[in-house]
Amino acid sequence: MNVIIKIPSPLRRFTQEASQVEIEAKHVGEALEQLCLSYPEIKRQLLDEHGELRNFVNVFYNKVDIRTLQGKATLLQPDSELRIVPAIAGGSGLENSPFDTILSSDELSRYNRHLLLPEIGVKGQEQLKQASVLVVGAGGLGCPVVLYLAAAGIGRIGIIDGDIVDESNLQRQILYTIGDVGSSKADCAESHLYQLNPYIKIDSYRETLSSENALAIIEQYDFVIDGTDNFPTRYLVNDACVLLHKPNIYGSIFRFDGQATVFNYKDGPCYRCLYPEPPPPGLVPSCAEGGVLGVLPAIIASVQATEAIKMITKIGKPLNQRLLLYDALNMEFDSLAIEKNPNCPLCGEQPTITTLGDYQQFCGLSGSENEPLYQQMTPEQVLAQMVAEPATVLIDVRDPYERAICTIPGSLHIPMQDIELKMAQFSVEQPLVFHCKMGGRSAKVCQQFIDKGYTNIINLNGGILAWVDLIDPTMTRY
Ligand SMILES: [Zn+2]
Repeated sequence: MNVIIKIPSPLRRFTQEASQVEIEAKHVGEALEQLCLSYPEIKRQLLDEHGELRNFVNVFYNKVDIRTLQGKATLLQPDSELRIVPAIAGGSGLENSPFDTILSSDELSRYNRHLLLPEIGVKGQEQLKQASVLVVGAGGLGCPVVLYLAAAGIGRIGIIDGDIVDESNLQRQILYTIGDVGSSKADCAESHLYQLNPYIKIDSYRETLSSENALAIIEQYDFVIDGTDNFPTRYLVNDACVLLHKPNIYGSIFRFDGQATVFNYKDGPCYRCLYPEPPPPGLVPSCAEGGVLGVLPAIIASVQATEAIKMITKIGKPLNQRLLLYDALNMEFDSLAIEKNPNCPLCGEQPTITTLGDYQQFCGLSGSENEPLYQQMTPEQVLAQMVAEPATVLIDVRDPYERAICTIPGSLHIPMQDIELKMAQFSVEQPLVFHCKMGGRSAKVCQQFIDKGYTNIINLNGGILAWVDLIDPTMTRY
């Protein structure tokens, strides 16, 4: 029977770097013997003096441990797979002192575990030191990304984020501590990262990436890592990267799911090839509204940081033309082939987008021809409306647990999922103001009421968070 034996990387130096070997054998024991005949040096690694498998080497037949089958007597079916899985501990001391390097002796010591990897070595570590990466967004994805990039010795790291640290960030944004709450994320990131690695340069931008500043900032870096949490910025990052010919290492997270890929790299697609248009506002909730498992961003961020390191050191196979999908609940990874769209208006054969545009408008978030038929009001306007029109009802459509955190006095609670059933209790002319946390879910509810013929529908812009900021700062933010 023909069987494929997969060789793990630590043992490949005994198989002339072959990652798999095809063998003809009837059972597992014979397959291992054949392997040792072809590559005598591997024998001592796998078998003891009695020809038995060493205790630190496990063998899996079609992904099942042979110890739970018939051990070495396990019979092989045609086209099956044997996988050798040895115990892996870690590195040992550096064998040869490198010479003639831009790395100081402190850096050589710090990056020892990289230098031991033949794929990276001193040359790769020097490439990392000479590289520059811009991370857009210092939130759930950006925090682990910049921590790993700084630890890995990327010579110049740009971090752009106009936000301040909020207590609700600490559940996943592992760069920040309690003392950072209320301070600029970009500033906190810079000071924490210098404590981790003083041999690199951090550029912190305490602003939001915009059509005005994007080209001038992105131009200065070799790679861009997209760690944003909203559609306008995603399209902005994508477009700027394509216009400047920079690879865009993309990651996104929502609830228990994540995605990652490398856009605009070696004839691969861009974000617009995959998603020519953003979803309408309110259809896809943000993490701030839909939630996210705190540990999830670390997985996707690690993928993004890994891809940056691989591309800088030119090792392995980049994650371009593939969309990696991660499902934390079922603990599954999948990868789908994605292709460049020849008709892409940005990176296709006849591009029509040649400059940066208005991304708020493109994503339907500011005045466009599809103006909603409900009114948008600021918290002050809502307050004035309630005084002027006492029949106005303020309706909170959030989940009960959110209401337990903070509540606007006098508001009526109808969770979003119950709204359809409760609609009939209001007359079509009655002024109804809806609010949620940030204004996304309530906008959807407003549209539902408009669709049913209600005429006096108002959305509280910015949700209860805007109310806390502008009307009652003593209320708890979340
Ligand atoms: Zn494209």
